[in-house]
Amino acid sequence: MHSVERIGRYRPERRLGTGAFGTVWLAHDDELDALVAVKVLADNWAHRLDVRERFLSEARMLRRAGSDRVVQVYDIGELPDGRPYFVMEYADGGTLADLLTEGPLPVPEALRLTASAARGAAALHQAGIVHRDIKPSNVLLRTSPGGAARVLLADLGLAKSLAEASGLTLAAGSAGYRPPEQAGPGAGIDERADVYSLGAVGYHLVTGAVPGEPGHVVPPGRLRPGLDPGVQRALLRALEPDRGRRWPTAQAFAEEIERLASRAPRPRRPRRALALTASALLLLTAVGVTLALVTRESPAPGIRVEDSSGRVTAEVPGAWGRQVRDSGWDPASIGLRPGREPGFTVADDLAKWQDLTSDVNGVFVGLSEHGDVTGQVNALTHAGCHYDGGRSYTGERWHGRVRTWTDCPGGGSITEAGLTPAGGDARPQVYVQIRQNGDPSQSERILDSVGAKG
Ligand code: ATP
Ligand code: MG
Repeated sequence: MHSVERIGRYRPERRLGTGAFGTVWLAHDDELDALVAVKVLADNWAHRLDVRERFLSEARMLRRAGSDRVVQVYDIGELPDGRPYFVMEYADGGTLADLLTEGPLPVPEALRLTASAARGAAALHQAGIVHRDIKPSNVLLRTSPGGAARVLLADLGLAKSLAEASGLTLAAGSAGYRPPEQAGPGAGIDERADVYSLGAVGYHLVTGAVPGEPGHVVPPGRLRPGLDPGVQRALLRALEPDRGRRWPTAQAFAEEIERLASRAPRPRRPRRALALTASALLLLTAVGVTLALVTRESPAPGIRVEDSSGRVTAEVPGAWGRQVRDSGWDPASIGLRPGREPGFTVADDLAKWQDLTSDVNGVFVGLSEHGDVTGQVNALTHAGCHYDGGRSYTGERWHGRVRTWTDCPGGGSITEAGLTPAGGDARPQVYVQIRQNGDPSQSERILDSVGAKG
C-alpha cells in the first residue's frame, strides 16, 4: 500500500489496520480539528465498478442507521487515482479483537460488552438493516468524555457484500461467527443471523476461543470452568444452528445477557492496581481508554481444556484454544493395543494438526491405562524436523523425558513427552505433544498444567 499524503481534506497520521478490501487510516480533519478514521478501498478493487458501488452503498447504509451504537459516517469521497473512501468516527479504544489478544476477559465484562454489541445490532434491526458480519474486529470501542467506553458496530457486512460482488471467497477468519444459513448463497437472512454472530462474539470473549462449526460448538463452560450455567445456556441458544431455536431478537439476547451480567459477581480487584503488560498500558494510556474496561487478573489466563470424560486436562495459551477435539484417542497411533482412551487435541486450527508442514499451535494430551506409553513415545521421530535432544522432566505431577524438534518443514517445533505420575505409580501414563509455530517457548508451562485421573 503506497502512502497517502492527503485524503481529501483529511491528513492521514497512521494506519489503523488493513482488512480484506481496504486500509483504515487515522486522519486529522484540519478544518474541524478532529480525528477521524478513513477507510480507503484497495487499489486492486478500485477499478471494479460493482465493488466500488457496494463500498459506497455500505457507507450510506451505516449513515442511515443513525444510531449512537453504530459507527457514524461523516463523508465519502474519491482519491485522485480513483480509489473511493469514506470517513467515519474514530474509535480510540480499538476493537474487541484487540482486547482478545490477551486471552479471555473477566466474565462480567465479557457479558457487558456482548450485551452492548447486541443493543447495537438491535438498533440496526430497528432500522431494517441486518449487519451480517458481526465479529470482534467489527466491534469498536470509543471513550466518551465521561470516561466510560461506548461499543460501536462497524462495517455492516461490508466485507461480505463486497466479497459477493467480487466473487471472492472470504478468508476463513470470520467462519466461527457465521450462522449456517449464511454459508450458502441466496439463503434468506434475517436478524437471527446477527444473533448467531453475537453469540459467537460473546463465546469468544468468555472463553478466549472462536466457537467451532455450527452444531459442533464445545460448551463454553468446558473452556471456562465455573462459568454460570445461565451464561452457557444463553450463549448456546444464540449459537443454535436452527435459527427457530435461537433468541428471536438481538434485543431479547441483550436483555438476558444484561440480566446475567448484573447477577455475576464483580471481578475481584487484582492485587496490583492493573494487570496489563507495560506496552499495552502505554498504548491504552496514550489513547485514553477507560482502564476499567481492560482490567483483568494477572497474568492473562490461559484456557483450561478437558476431554469429554473429564479425566484429562491442561492449560493452553488463549489464542491456541480455538478448536477442541475432546473425544479421546487411539493408542494404536503409537503402536500400542488399539482402543479408545481419554484425551483431547486443542489447537488454533485442528484441520492443520496432522500436517507437519503447517504452522499450527496446539496440544494433544492422551491418557492410557495400558501398555508402555513412555517407551513408545521416546521412540517416536519426526521426519523433516531437527532433533534437539531430550531432557528429563520432573514436575509436581509427572516425570519423564521431554524431547524437542525444531525447524520442522512449516517452521514450527514439536515438544513431546511420555509421562508417568511423579508419586511413583506406574499408571496412568500420558502422552503429551505440543506443537508451536516457532520455538518451543510455552512447553514447560503446558507440561506443568497437565492433569489426569486414572
Ligand atoms: P474485514 O476485512 O474482514 O472486515 P477487518 O474488520 O479487520 O477485517 P477493516 O474493516 O478494513 O478490516 O478494518 C481494519 C482495521 O482497522 C480493524 O480491524 C480495526 O482495527 C481498524 N478500524 C476500522 N475502523 C475503525 C474506526 N472507525 N476507528 C478505529 N479503528 C478502526
Ligand atoms: Mg472490519
